[in-house]
Amino acid sequence: MKYNILGKTGLRVSRLGFGGIPIQRVPAAEAAATIRRCLELGVNFIDTARAYTDSEEKIGQALAGVPRDSYALATKSMAVDGETMTRDIEISLRNLRTDYIDLYQCHNIRRDQDEERLLGPGGGLEALRRAREAGKIRHIGVTGHQVERLIRLLRTGWFETVQVPYNFNETKPEEELLPLAVKENIGVITMKPLGGGALPASLALRFFLDKPVGAIIPGMENPALAEENARCLTEDGPLTPADQADVDRVKAELGKWYCRRCDYCQPCPQGIDIAGVFLFHGYFGRYNMKDWARGRYAGLKVKADACIACGACVGRCPYQLPIPALLRKAAADLAGAI
Ligand code: SF4
Ligand code: SF4
Repeated sequence: MKYNILGKTGLRVSRLGFGGIPIQRVPAAEAAATIRRCLELGVNFIDTARAYTDSEEKIGQALAGVPRDSYALATKSMAVDGETMTRDIEISLRNLRTDYIDLYQCHNIRRDQDEERLLGPGGGLEALRRAREAGKIRHIGVTGHQVERLIRLLRTGWFETVQVPYNFNETKPEEELLPLAVKENIGVITMKPLGGGALPASLALRFFLDKPVGAIIPGMENPALAEENARCLTEDGPLTPADQADVDRVKAELGKWYCRRCDYCQPCPQGIDIAGVFLFHGYFGRYNMKDWARGRYAGLKVKADACIACGACVGRCPYQLPIPALLRKAAADLAGAI
């Protein structure tokens, strides 16, 4: 495993980090096995969020007994006011079973009024600075999907890291954000490096080998995925000109309307596992695994045709996916006989 210094935090983090979204979907024992395998592979950067339901708790459980100085913990809160942020930090500490968190991030600031509240008097940033002075957290970062907003937030000078979706199909951060981060020595954490599982791991991860990023954090929910990701980043070299043809083909197939499996669209009042449906639909169309995809879809308790087009999910999707229309298409394709 290779290690990088994460910008001005000075943290020495593994190039491959652990993304904590998908362990929400697996039992605690499977989550623990995945995290333990990551540690064996040299992964020492573990990222999660207050918003990822039981992810923090599962991580805390998995790391019980592991020397605290052998890994760095990052989590985040969507709180923008000081009181809620302070409460969230305490919950994170309890869930993660630790007395300090290496990196606490402001999670997915999306609206102007939230940004003002976060930075203003009595806001979340003040609470984070107090927690840092008290030794409860060590560094402050920011995450989000809106590149312009992230740039503005970084320019305040308060944030030591930035976490942003970045992969070979989503390169907007290269225009202004990455140069700014390099100039200001801000640590870069790339989320969605595999586009939520839509990009082939080898191409997607090797893309980063010559990029100025500190940690690459694909979500991992089983030990085999951890091994595959570590292999791509440690054994294979950067993309070659021949690989570029494959990259171009994948980009052309995907376009921009694809699900990154972040689950921000939940909850769906009908109980549809939106990301799950889109995952199976991706395998159906992109990888031509039609029988496999229909078989897995048949096992879902709630099918895509239960969508009543209420629209609740649409405003929550950071990628503005037309979810009801995509579900209709998935339902039509996946409901066929196996
Ligand atoms: S539009 Fe469909 S998928 Fe979205 S929340 Fe409503 S019922 Fe669920
Ligand atoms: S539909 Fe949008 S919000 Fe929901 S999981 Fe996919 S990318 Fe995330």
